[in-house]
Amino acid sequence: MVTFFPMPYQDETLYSMIARYHIWSGNLNSKATLKDLFNTTSVTAGRELPANIKLLINNLSCKCTLTVDEIIKKHTLYKYYTAFLPNERATYIYDLMSEGNGSLIFTALGMCNNNMKIDSSLKYCNQCVESDRNNFGEAFFHIEHQVPGVLMCQKHSAELYICNKSTQIKNRQEYLNLEFSISEKDTIVAPLNRKIIEHQKEFIRNIDSIINSSFRFKEMNFFREHYLKELIDKGMAENRMKIYQQDLLRDFKNYYGEDYLMLLGCDFDVDNKYNWVTAITRKHRKSFHPIQHLLMIEYLNIDIEDLFNSDYMEVRKKTYKNKTDEEKTSQREKWLKLRNEYPNENTTFIRELDKATYIWLNKYDKKWLSENSPVKKTYGHSKKIDWEKRDEEILQEVKDVIEAIYNSSEKPERVTVGAVGRKIGKAYLLQKYLDKMPKTKEYLQEKVEAVKVFQNRRIKWVRENVTTNGESEWIVMREAGVR
Ligand SMILES: [Zn+2]
Repeated sequence: MVTFFPMPYQDETLYSMIARYHIWSGNLNSKATLKDLFNTTSVTAGRELPANIKLLINNLSCKCTLTVDEIIKKHTLYKYYTAFLPNERATYIYDLMSEGNGSLIFTALGMCNNNMKIDSSLKYCNQCVESDRNNFGEAFFHIEHQVPGVLMCQKHSAELYICNKSTQIKNRQEYLNLEFSISEKDTIVAPLNRKIIEHQKEFIRNIDSIINSSFRFKEMNFFREHYLKELIDKGMAENRMKIYQQDLLRDFKNYYGEDYLMLLGCDFDVDNKYNWVTAITRKHRKSFHPIQHLLMIEYLNIDIEDLFNSDYMEVRKKTYKNKTDEEKTSQREKWLKLRNEYPNENTTFIRELDKATYIWLNKYDKKWLSENSPVKKTYGHSKKIDWEKRDEEILQEVKDVIEAIYNSSEKPERVTVGAVGRKIGKAYLLQKYLDKMPKTKEYLQEKVEAVKVFQNRRIKWVRENVTTNGESEWIVMREAGVR
């Protein structure tokens, strides 16, 4: 029985609460803390979806008012990870966290086969650390900073930092207390720019809705049906059988920009027909990562509360009643009035002023709404990529770098696509999109060096530059790195 246990701060993770307990308790090692809290030492320090929560609650003094349900829903990433899963699956995961086998949780999410990389490093915002120290006397881990796909602190629009220590520890039972884990080695998750900030604001707003509301779980293809309806409205699909995939993929990519998609681990090749955007719009049996759903939702301009509060529908059946013209006129007028009052604000801002009107128009008068909303600012990347122009630009950069390598008087370096890509800072471009840049491709094919050719160049260089003073041939060979 534990007689004291820290009450959670708002938005604090369970992991962080235990880490604070560990310091308060004065325990010398994590095993002692696990024994205190769980009566057993066979518990791992789960960061996102921890298990054995019932054991913990049963062990706390009866004066403690925390409940299993409160911990799971408010202090872990349970709601985030299960928002797009069917009821049975979500309930199963809930049970595993409460009193089941924690090692089964990740598999139960069904995301093992969607190629998303798993990053469970701990993150924090410097300004939150400051204000938490001022308000509470200590720093702690905030739940919204740990959500995969979140790159910034919403409150401060500031970059998040990765706690370097959390990527290093080998002991899977150790709880890191943020107050003692901040270090100069910590690096930012990603540099922010205006475009990323705009996307992140929307992304985090939707996550907030998921975490703070109690939506009912949906059937597997519920979301797909809704995406399909929006795609039809957008002109990207005719019906459930006919989606203009190439248009969709290119437009989706232009909307977010490749860099942002890469940061979220959701970049795809438009020429690969097994990409996730295509898969999520088709009838499917597998689950997708919440990041992927959230990207679709933002791209399709879907109001997340409206989405979760709606019922299952099939696109084939028209479920929309026609609205009368008077209704339409009155809703349109309300929207235009707000736009006139705030001529410099964006759609998100105006939507917050009168959500009901926005939702109504978005549902029944979408085309008019998009024509009468503030123009979305674009920041460079949203432009369609002009591959021909890019080919010319990259070709010039590649030429410069390759000439520099061949003309260098330094020890020779082998010319490969990878080496050139790294030197111009665009390795991914040369690796993944070379086919789109035929001139660059041809030039590279001509210039890259086979090993043998390179060895000969190196031997020649050694002969000319290293004083071998009549030394034997094998010394030349050794200097050239050729066996
Ligand atoms: Zn912050």
